[in-house]
Amino acid sequence: MSDHHDAPSNPYLKKRRDSGETEKLTKRVQKIEQLLIDKGVVTKEALDRIIEIYETDIGPLNGSQVVAKAWADEDYKQRLKTDATKAIAELGFSGLQGEHMVVVENTPSVHNVVVCTLCSCYPWPVLGLPPKWYKEAPYRSRIVIEPREVLKEFGTNIPSATEIRVWDSSAEIRYMVLPQQPNYAKNMSEEELAKIVTRDSMIGVETL
Ligand code: FE
Repeated sequence: MSDHHDAPSNPYLKKRRDSGETEKLTKRVQKIEQLLIDKGVVTKEALDRIIEIYETDIGPLNGSQVVAKAWADEDYKQRLKTDATKAIAELGFSGLQGEHMVVVENTPSVHNVVVCTLCSCYPWPVLGLPPKWYKEAPYRSRIVIEPREVLKEFGTNIPSATEIRVWDSSAEIRYMVLPQQPNYAKNMSEEELAKIVTRDSMIGVETL
């Protein structure tokens, strides 16, 4: 697991982990993992599958429900934009790494994309675990410098007239993108809407 940078004002995170501590912790986790595998308590495949489920299924499904509700219910959307943490908790999603959520809405004139330039801060309760590329240096550095180019590499072409805003998540604030509702989805039910919302659209590297 990656470290999460903190600001001194955050009372929950009094001290920053230095890389040496992180390394020690990583080694400890690896030893415990190996011990559990050796003792036959878990298998490597099962562990990988659990991580995969959190990366691709459980987490993002929560976020999809938030987006679908915002599309279907204008009042909810306003609550989400005013106090995302509270509005997301209305659906039962809260907890670790989601204490201070901010939702940024895509419009025809503004496209939002989220990064954590320092490490990998990410809203776990709604998006699960971050994908590998989100944690890696090329995305973290380049999305800030040349967002339009990076988005193109994801297959996402943002019209030149549309402003791109890059939001830097931290331990203090975790951002999530509210994608634009596609025209073909205007008459869908909330349940159907939730099915078309992807993880990457909520990070902002994809449009729907
Ligand atoms: Fe971070």
